[in-house]
Amino acid sequence: MIDPAGANMDDDLRQWVIAACRELTRRGLTHGTSGNVSLRRGEREFFISPTGMAYEALEPDDIALMHADGRWFGRRRPSSEWRFHRDIFDSRPDVRAIVHTHSTHATALACTGRGIPAFHYMIALAGGPDIRCAPYFTFGTQELSDAALAALAGRRACLLANHGVIALGADLPAALALAGEVENLAAQYCAALAVGEVRILDDGEMRRVIEKFRTYGKPDAPDSGLVSGGESARNALDERH
Ligand code: 13P
Ligand code: ZN
Repeated sequence: MIDPAGANMDDDLRQWVIAACRELTRRGLTHGTSGNVSLRRGEREFFISPTGMAYEALEPDDIALMHADGRWFGRRRPSSEWRFHRDIFDSRPDVRAIVHTHSTHATALACTGRGIPAFHYMIALAGGPDIRCAPYFTFGTQELSDAALAALAGRRACLLANHGVIALGADLPAALALAGEVENLAAQYCAALAVGEVRILDDGEMRRVIEKFRTYGKPDAPDSGLVSGGESARNALDERH
């Protein structure tokens, strides 16, 4: 974008990518230069973290702009995983932000080739009754991107065998939160596996949970036993006197 407002907006988008990268380190979801972050700029272009660079040292000009045809612009080469970032943005118009991590427990599970089943109802946060694990392919390859896209069908997150996690969001905070949630679920699943036989919720229950999540946390979430008594707690006190 060349108009001044557009230039400012691009600077904001680059700063948000940097903030998200640093937040991944702060939350313990990445170590060193592993993982990467991208943010949609338009229908066919996005900003992406650079390859092989420590997150603490990032400056806005290090964040590359990429076009869906593979062209990139900037002083640093884009992440080696630009293909799956590009292919996800291309095929999922609802996705505006992508976070890739090697977070410990999710990666440990992925190293057994295992996804995360519906051992806990919170799995529904990823969009379905499980989080799939894509088969292993070398990092940065088109094969890895194709496998990731298949594992993400109908989902907002997947594991990558012997590698890590991809989490998608309508914005960067949502993608970061989901990456954190996948790691938390993976840690709980590892702990449950260590304790004994894990009970898996059935498809009917997961459909119910997924439906409930559509309104979870919103003022109009249906609950037939819940009656509003007004916004002020004083109403309750006044009624008693
Ligand atoms: P980049 O530094 O190229 O983003 O690679 C990190 C990574 O996690 C590769 O899968
Ligand atoms: Zn990786």
